[in-house]
Amino acid sequence: MTRKTVEKPEDFDRYLDEQLNKLQTDHIDMYLMHALNEQRWEKIKSLKFYEFFERAKAQGKIKFAGFSFHDKYPVFKEIVDGYDSWDFCQIQLNYMDVDYQAGLRGLKYAASKGLPVVIMEPLKGGKLAKLPDKARKILNRHTQRWSDVEWAFRWLANFSEVAVILSGMSTLEQVRQNVEIAQRLTVGNLSEGELQLIEEVKRTLESYAVINCTECGYCMPCPSGVDIPGNFRVYNETIMFEDFEGGKGIYRWFQSQKIAASFCTKCGECLSKCPQGLEIPSLMEKVHSELGA
Ligand code: SF4
Ligand code: SF4
Repeated sequence: MTRKTVEKPEDFDRYLDEQLNKLQTDHIDMYLMHALNEQRWEKIKSLKFYEFFERAKAQGKIKFAGFSFHDKYPVFKEIVDGYDSWDFCQIQLNYMDVDYQAGLRGLKYAASKGLPVVIMEPLKGGKLAKLPDKARKILNRHTQRWSDVEWAFRWLANFSEVAVILSGMSTLEQVRQNVEIAQRLTVGNLSEGELQLIEEVKRTLESYAVINCTECGYCMPCPSGVDIPGNFRVYNETIMFEDFEGGKGIYRWFQSQKIAASFCTKCGECLSKCPQGLEIPSLMEKVHSELGA
């Protein structure tokens, strides 16, 4: 499937009409500018996306205009503040990723601006649905009645700022389970003790991180295009969650995007920039040898 991108203002309208045709409907309730980051935000602004939204709403083709987001918090804030008529937004959030991308700060900021927030990746791509034993044992101290999935959903539902939790489901059984769990989710459903257990799970999993990268980004950009913190993150999470298949899958995608550790030329440019003193080139070799095999 080739990905279509907007190159001129009329493309917004053309793609919306194609989408309506394919869906065989005359309107879409929730319409998003997809996966905004700094670069895409600049692009859609230059193409006057706001005029398209106003047109499409006036024509009754969309009801609510939103965006989904993948970049750092300051960019998120800029996007929220950059258009007065957003109706909602969609961010990645789960109890392991509170400081990742928009994170908890983003949730609170959007809500403070009156924006309903849709949560994606509540189970961190499925990782929080099958916790390794070292983490599961901690939760079992409290109750075995709640599945790993339920703990993750309960953590999110606890925030009054969360409007919707999106979760990918690949079987009818998962749909049934999620519907059943959803009926028990309420704001403030977790006690202080239960929240501390989740915090302990997070700390325990994080203690298995092998590479002490804080994802500060000071080493970036790499002249060879390597996503240095991204590779370290994938590697650490592979070890934390004992999920080599998942880690290798993400690493393959990194290779296809030419941002994988294998593209490191060992130029050494990043070495003096890392406040953690990480031996980045040799760590890149380690990441590639274990995930690229
Ligand atoms: S050593 Fe590797 S990761 Fe570091 S800047 Fe050079 S090519 Fe990039
Ligand atoms: S500078 Fe060091 S700690 Fe910061 S993102 Fe790069 S590798 Fe990680």
